[in-house]
Amino acid sequence: AYPNYGRIDGPVVIIGFGSIGRGTLPLIERHFDYDADQMVVIEPNADMHTFLSQRKIRHLQEKITRANYRDVLGGIFKDGKGFCVNLSVDTSSLDIMKFCRELGVLYIDTVVEPWEGFYFETTENAERTNYALRQKVRDEKAASPGGTTAVSCCGANPGMVSWFVKEALLTLARDTGRDATPPANRAGWGTLMQGLGVKGVHIAERDTQARAIPRPRGTFVNTWSVEGFISEGFQPAELGWGTHETWMPENAHSYDTGCQSAIWLERPGAITRVHTWCPTPGPQFGFLVTHNEAVSISDYFTVGPADAPDFRPTCHYAYHPSDDAVLSLHEMFGSGKQQTVHHIMEEDEIIEGIDELGVLLYGHEKNALWYGSRLSNAETRDLAPYQNATGLQVTSAVLAGMVWALENPDAGIVETDEMDHARCLEVQKPYLGPVEAHYTDWTPLQDRWELFPEDIDETDPWLFRNVLAS
Ligand code: NAD
Repeated sequence: AYPNYGRIDGPVVIIGFGSIGRGTLPLIERHFDYDADQMVVIEPNADMHTFLSQRKIRHLQEKITRANYRDVLGGIFKDGKGFCVNLSVDTSSLDIMKFCRELGVLYIDTVVEPWEGFYFETTENAERTNYALRQKVRDEKAASPGGTTAVSCCGANPGMVSWFVKEALLTLARDTGRDATPPANRAGWGTLMQGLGVKGVHIAERDTQARAIPRPRGTFVNTWSVEGFISEGFQPAELGWGTHETWMPENAHSYDTGCQSAIWLERPGAITRVHTWCPTPGPQFGFLVTHNEAVSISDYFTVGPADAPDFRPTCHYAYHPSDDAVLSLHEMFGSGKQQTVHHIMEEDEIIEGIDELGVLLYGHEKNALWYGSRLSNAETRDLAPYQNATGLQVTSAVLAGMVWALENPDAGIVETDEMDHARCLEVQKPYLGPVEAHYTDWTPLQDRWELFPEDIDETDPWLFRNVLAS
């Protein structure tokens, strides 16, 4: 029997029924009690109608927009109860979260998503950053503390990886003979990371899921939202900026307002490469795609004042997507055009591969520690329907976040860094396949091509100058 995590009173609304919405549904069905006739899926795509009507789930076939969200959601949540699960692209996380809190309805999403048009119509790059998007949510939290729980950015990454950072810190503390009691608060976590000598964190991912057929030219193939990946891939590269860094790229910009934990580069993330490491490939290139967790983790673990910290880790994504997605990016940036055909690999067509998603904590006395999930598509098919390995890492984090929200209904606006990581991982772990810790003595100065001089600084292998590929 699957664990039952309690009852959701009132409507359960899923906004967006793409790869993540479809994968989240069976986990909600499996682990919560709720009135089945109060479930609503809001999804503009007519193709989803048969799937939903066969399961007797109410399908509202429309887009949520700036103009209609209050009417549509207000009409459904009229009794001020329920849970809004936002898994859509092009809907403002901030506006919907604010409205749900006004109504007293629990809320969760997996990204700070803006309204349609933001990613490609905003002309100022500084405004197209995740820093800017996230800071607005943090400002709302500060302006309106406490109240109904709204969980921001609770997918795999952003999301689960914040819980992995804490688990990796405790592992490192244990393995270096230190006190491994979990700290009770944010200051304690920051001091723990600082005391362990961690300089930074890569969100280090290698997705090896593959189909039997080669990628057709002109089709963007990915293992999760193509639209979502293209949007974030065209945002500027961004990273949390650590106190050990001695050099900054010439195209970098920093901040003097907000949490000030990050910088952004005048270059799209999906063509900015970094040297990184995962257990399966060992050393590899990853893309420095911007993500909320790069900003939030470097913010959360800051020790001292925001504008002059005693300690702050560097933190960024280092993503090697599936090989077909790498080719899709190459084709898209090379042609200057987005492909018109989009395809998300389905669990039944994937013939091999895993999504290896973890955190690489580096710069400490044991050099580097990768801690993460190595979930295969084959195992995923045994664990839960309607999703591949990438999907299940995300949807099981949504499940964990929903459980935490039900257990903590008045926690206000929270990010995953601010939640009980042990409880969340306890809920999520049965869906993550092997969750493993791997130490490595690899550094960014190893395994490089030496025939051409590079802009490196050998005084500290873990400087971002050495991580960024020329
Ligand atoms: P998808 O592209 O497969 O599906 C998105 C769905 O939203 C589509 O079915 C689309 O028709 C629907 N939609 C579009 N506009 C809408 C609107 N205005 N109102 C309601 N529905 C609308 O995407 P996905 O893979 O399911 O991802 C969903 C979201 O989750 C994306 O925002 C993505 O960035 C995010 N995500 C987060 C993580 C993470 O780890 N944090 C991982 C994967 C995806």
